[in-house]
Amino acid sequence: MSTNAESGASSQAARIQKTDAQWRAELSPEQYRILREKGTERAFTGKYWDTPSSYGEYRCAGCNSLLFRGADKFVSECGWPAFDKAIKGSIKYHADRSFGMLRTEVTCSRCDGHLGHVFEDGPTDTTGVRYCINSLSITYTPLPDETKTKDLATEAIVDPK
Ligand SMILES: [Zn+2]
Repeated sequence: MSTNAESGASSQAARIQKTDAQWRAELSPEQYRILREKGTERAFTGKYWDTPSSYGEYRCAGCNSLLFRGADKFVSECGWPAFDKAIKGSIKYHADRSFGMLRTEVTCSRCDGHLGHVFEDGPTDTTGVRYCINSLSITYTPLPDETKTKDLATEAIVDPK
């Protein structure tokens, strides 16, 4: 049985590059608007905004790369899925000066799909960082316990690189 590269750490996985037509064919129109056109779903409407901390995994809806552990999720009153850490190397950080603000945009390091933004108003008892992610950019898989994810390296970064 061959190993499935998609289940490993995303930083080691090959980058995915597809044409616009391929992405349009694979993603729902709503996912395409967010992942490929940097859209934002309305607050309090996404599938996962109020999903509590869990043992599961959150993966990129575009390429299935592992981005966040369910254990690092928290329910934020902002209305979008929120995490205080990300899987190390799974995310790229970019300065975003749109709408007259300076924010840090986060994208999937494997397929460049837009995920959301990262802010410095996360839980002060952990990292103080809040990854604010569109539900449509991620897919959730529950796991029976934390053994599969607890030893994975994580990061909490706010400044664009
Ligand atoms: Zn991706």
